[in-house]
Order: sequence, then structure tokens, then C-alpha cells
Amino acid sequence: MYSFLEQSSLILQEAGKVGQIDPNVMQLLEAPQRVISFRIPLKMDDGSFRVFDAHRVRYNDALGPTRDGTRISPELDLDEVKALALIMSVKHAAGKIPAGGGKGGIAADPKALSGREFEALCRGYMRHLHSSGSAYDVPGADVGTNLQTMSWMLDEFESIHNRHEPTAVNDKPPILGGTLGGYEATGSGVFEVFEEAAREIGLEIEGARVAIQGFGQVGAVAAQCFFTAGCKVIAISDSRGGVFSENGIDVPTLIEHKQTTGQVLGLEGTHGVTNEELIACDCDVLVPAALQGVITSDNAVHVKARLVVEAANAPTTMEADRILAEKGVTVVPDVLANAGSVHLCQMERTQGLYDNYWDEATINQFRRERLSGGFHAALNTAARYQVTSARIGAWINALKRMEEAIKMRGWC
Ligand code: NAD
Repeated sequence: MYSFLEQSSLILQEAGKVGQIDPNVMQLLEAPQRVISFRIPLKMDDGSFRVFDAHRVRYNDALGPTRDGTRISPELDLDEVKALALIMSVKHAAGKIPAGGGKGGIAADPKALSGREFEALCRGYMRHLHSSGSAYDVPGADVGTNLQTMSWMLDEFESIHNRHEPTAVNDKPPILGGTLGGYEATGSGVFEVFEEAAREIGLEIEGARVAIQGFGQVGAVAAQCFFTAGCKVIAISDSRGGVFSENGIDVPTLIEHKQTTGQVLGLEGTHGVTNEELIACDCDVLVPAALQGVITSDNAVHVKARLVVEAANAPTTMEADRILAEKGVTVVPDVLANAGSVHLCQMERTQGLYDNYWDEATINQFRRERLSGGFHAALNTAARYQVTSARIGAWINALKRMEEAIKMRGWC
């Protein structure tokens, strides 16, 4: 059975072995430094009472305060949060961001709560988290959270601590001290890293056939970027099903259709596809932008794309990764492809600490440069260690930085 935590640990072990990371450092990184689990009591609108399980994992803070990620989803459990916190640590370190990886969340279905209940739950999360601010641990957004939830959490933090401290929470709106470009950062970044990878493998961008699983914040923005650049987006899915068009989907029309109907299914001029059909469809570029563990040893053999760009966190299992490599498919790993958000959060923090805010062009340029730098650094490291996997290259870069910080601190 698929285990997200086990899969992430396998990558950690392999990168540690190939990169010859000190065994003591590896022992420290085997598990998170700090884990808290807590329960949030909530009075429901109908007078009933419920308790929600919540977690926060601070994986390793050798490089700086732990940061980012609050997932609210019905199936969330502690192992998922640990795996995501490890990936966040690697994403920060591989991107040369002075931060450790943090992830947290609540096991709840936001769609099953009223507006008042959801706000009370988010505020309750912040109250029971006992966060002490920007020098310690900084929650950001993930699946199930957004500008509004992060605004409630910041407001709750500031009320508890009786001071304004915008850098205590990431992914907040510009009006509360956030940064411009937040919503688009990850999806645009996915496209920018795709451009770099396409150049590496000699794939023509104009007319490239693209299939995207997931049409939320990341998938929809990325789809728009592919469309604008002249790619032919032939398949897109969301949790209710997928659509396919041999002639290419008009992405702006699909965005409108989704806003009106709440799903991608039913768009005129398309026919329905399942997730398995989307993964196996005849495309050049496959972009998983929804969930972890969707490209597995069962379906990797059917992938026809030349390039897989991992917009979601951990969509490909290690076994599938091996199968794709054997087939000659290039995989741009999550820690590089969706790192737009961590670079943006770093810029959000810097602007907040300086109390000086940048224009969108400056932000977009920084994001593009940093994503490109991380991508090429991973390729160079992979070449140096004679592996083909950019994933292992990126993880080695991250582990080397963590190793240096851990040793300089005298932890081992
Ligand atoms: P979101 O909630 O906005 O969108 C998720 C999308 O996936 C929705 O369209 C949903 O319908 C779809 N989906 C869910 N189950 C599906 C299924 N079984 N088949 C097909 N589609 C399905 O979330 P998001 O912010 O777009 O995040 C997507 C992924 O990207 C997650 O793995 C997340 O961790 C990762 N990520 C997000 C960000 C960010 O800035 N939002 C940053 C880095 C990584």
C-alpha cells in the first residue's frame, strides 16, 4: 500500500547515500525534530459540538525558522504532515532559502462547514498552535487554505500577542503585509521550470501537447500559462473527472466553465476522460497538479509524455520514477517544479521584515531567476554524482546545505 511518508523517506535515504551525507546527519534527518498534535474544539451552528485533530511538524530548523504549509483536508493524518514537512525542508534548502521545513493542518472538510464554523476552526488552529512568531515557525497556505484563512490566522496571532507582526504568517494578502503575485507564484513557476526543462531536452514549446491533472490554484494558473505560450492543452481533470480535446482546450473558457458549474466536465467540444486515461494519453508533457502518489508502478509504464513536471507534491512513487527513467522520460521533481511558492514566501518575509513592498515585475523576475538557478544546480549535481535524476540532484543539494548548517551548529 502507498505510504507518502515511506516514499519521502526512501528519497531521503537514496539522496543521502549517493551524496555521501554524514551518517550522523542522516540519523538526525530520519525523523522530524518537533511534532505537535492537538485538538480543536468547535461549537457547530446547529448547537452540536465537534473536535478536530490538528498537527504541526517542524522538520528541521538548522537553516532557519521552520516555515509554510497548512493543509485542511478530511483525510489528513500526522504521517502526511511529516512527509510534507520533510519535502518543505528540502525545497527551502535546495532553493538556498534560509528556512527549515514546516507543515501543519487540520483533518476537516472545509466544504462541509459553514463560513462561521470554518473561520472559528482556522482561528482555533492558531490559538491552539501556540506559535511564537516569525523567528520560530511561520504557517503558510496549502490545500484547503487561502488568502482568507491566512488572514484569519494572522489576525488571531496578532490578537493573542497584542502586536502587529505580519511575518508571523505567510500567504496573506498584500493589504495585510503580504506580497503581490502570491496566487500565481506556484502555477507560473511550474511553467517557468517547464520552459527550462523543455530547452534541456529540445522540446518545442509552441504546439507541445500538455495534459494536466488538477485544476485548482496551481493547475489552473499553470494551464493558463501553457495555453498563453502556445502549447496545446489537450486534457485537464479535477476531482469530479477530466476533459479531453484533440484540438486543444480553450483554457480561459474552461476557467469560466469551472466558475459557473464547479467542474471541468461538460465543457463544450470536449469528451470525458478518467485520471488513468489522462496519465496515459498521447501528450508531450504530463503535469500532475493535484495529489500525491498518482503516478505509480502500475501506470508509469503507460505514460507517453517525454516530460513529467511535478506541480503537486510527491505525485510520483520511487518505483514509478525508476520506470519513467528507464523509458527515457524526464521528470522535473516537485521540489524544483513547484518551488515558486517557497521563493515567493521568502520574498513575502523579506518585504514584511523591511516594511518595504516591491512591484510585481521585480517579484516575478526574482522568482524566475531563483527557480532557474535551483533547476540548473540540481542538474549539475546530478551530473557530478553520475545520476540521471534531477530529484536526487536537488535533494543532495538540500542535504549538503542542511549538513553544513547542522555541523556548524555543533549538533553532530
Ligand atoms: P487546490 O485545492 O487549489 O486544487 C487541487 C485540484 O486538484 C482541484 O482542482 C481538485 O479538484 C483537484 N483534484 C483533487 N482530487 C483529484 C483527483 N482525484 N483527480 C483529479 N483532480 C483532483 O490545491 P492547489 O493549491 O492547486 O495544490 C495542488 C497541489 O500542488 C498539492 O499537491 C499541493 O501540495 C501542491 N502545491 C501547492 C502550492 C500552492 O501554492 N498552492 C505550492 C506548492 C505545492
